[in-house]
Amino acid sequence: MQTHEIIKRFREHFERNGHTVVPSASLILDDPTLLFVNAGMVPFKPYFLGEAPAPYKRATSVQKVVRTPDIDEVGKTTRHNTFFQMAGNFSFGDYFKEGAITLAWELITKSQDEGGYGFDPNRIWVTVYQDDDEAIELWEKIAGLPAERIQRRDGLDNYWDMGVPGPGGPCSEIYYDRGPEHGKDGGPVADEDRYLEIWNLVFMQDVRGEQSPKYGHKPIGELPAKNIDTGMGVERVAMLLQNVENVYETDLIRAVITKAEELSGKRYGDNEVDDVRFRVIADHARSGTMIVNDGVSPGNEGRGYVLRRLLRRIVRSSRLLGITEPVLGTFAAVVRDEMGESYPDLVASFERVDAVVRAEEDAFLATLTTGSKMFETAADETRSAGGTTLSGDRAFQLHDTYGFPIDLTLEMAAEQGLKVDEEGFRRLMTEQRQRAKADAAARKTGHGDASAYRAVLEDHGRTDFLGYDQLGSEAR
Ligand code: ATP
Ligand code: MG
Ligand code: MG
Ligand code: MG
Repeated sequence: MQTHEIIKRFREHFERNGHTVVPSASLILDDPTLLFVNAGMVPFKPYFLGEAPAPYKRATSVQKVVRTPDIDEVGKTTRHNTFFQMAGNFSFGDYFKEGAITLAWELITKSQDEGGYGFDPNRIWVTVYQDDDEAIELWEKIAGLPAERIQRRDGLDNYWDMGVPGPGGPCSEIYYDRGPEHGKDGGPVADEDRYLEIWNLVFMQDVRGEQSPKYGHKPIGELPAKNIDTGMGVERVAMLLQNVENVYETDLIRAVITKAEELSGKRYGDNEVDDVRFRVIADHARSGTMIVNDGVSPGNEGRGYVLRRLLRRIVRSSRLLGITEPVLGTFAAVVRDEMGESYPDLVASFERVDAVVRAEEDAFLATLTTGSKMFETAADETRSAGGTTLSGDRAFQLHDTYGFPIDLTLEMAAEQGLKVDEEGFRRLMTEQRQRAKADAAARKTGHGDASAYRAVLEDHGRTDFLGYDQLGSEAR
């Protein structure tokens, strides 16, 4: 079943069941805690927080999301994209656990002839939050799941909240058993590669206080109106229904791999090292293109820096596959052809997307060769001094002078068995940013006194730190 059909069936199922169809929001929302929308519920946050009345009781969306913290998994696990589509259904004070479980179960197990996904019910496993006996009973009653295919998990895995006092609740996740050839027995608790997580149901029922139930603390109250928030990974369902090995080989992403095969003359599937590169290219081409399409340009800060990392990693991976010509415009066009049906704006504004990625590639290629030489020198020096860690200074210099994103340096170092002093690098980055702000403030006020500097830090420091935090470790 093609990805477009999977999305269509999701939408129709929930529309038939009284949900308002809400189009995907942009990846960029005005939310200082997030660089990118990272879950389907984000655009609905004001309703869940009670800041605005929900204009509907039930809604459904297929939201585009970006998860930069998953970047290190890309191409190595079978299931992590930096850009993916999260299909969700939401209830605002309407149906709760029983409704959410019933609706999800119907869609995944109904036969394909009747409009469902037709998953074999005997291969479905679920996890529930350790204290959630109610969810266990419902899974037994609604789905007829035997007790051994319902696993309890602690708060770290199966409790959701927003990281601050406010709404929270237990989750229940749905997994599909890909079979013993994909890993060991024992359910998702034992092996998340064999048992693939496809859908997360969040039962928003609690008020969490200062301390999160994620870490075993009790909620401080119950929400007056209980809500449902779910997220199904469209690419993961596609991977299963298309009977391919990983999300990168699904219909809308695989086309980029095919293009990279053509350009490099190498074949995907011949060796694992190159295969990871093919998958990284395919994944990042899609996320990079979608991020540019939502208005971001490459830069040295925040979103622009994330985008730069993605785009430059494509260029370098392509070089390592032996491709010498420029690639970003070519790959972006493939993404447009595949994603255009769902995102017509990408087709309409492709000229701009194309211009942005080509300019970034030119800028990077102009310094890649000299930067690589400088890297080699630094690596040699480190080794001949008996060290195994490239200094933060060197990483910073590569970034500042040659435009090497930190993960490029990390990747190149790892290939030579070296580590990088990332903390030192980040310290220098922060110092540079503060200097730039102090300079700007000094220009504005006409003098360079410390109070202007402090004021700028107080105004802007916090947001930047949240931004950086999110690059490394993002919740959910
Ligand atoms: P995982 O444990 O596999 O990293 P998750 O628990 O972090 O997934 P959720 O936050 O529960 O994921 O997101 C809801 C659904 O979105 C998941 O059940 C999965 O199907 C899908 N999903 C999550 N992360 C990714 C990703 N990086 N790429 C593709 N699909 C994803
Ligand atoms: Mg998970
Ligand atoms: Mg999950
Ligand atoms: Mg995850």
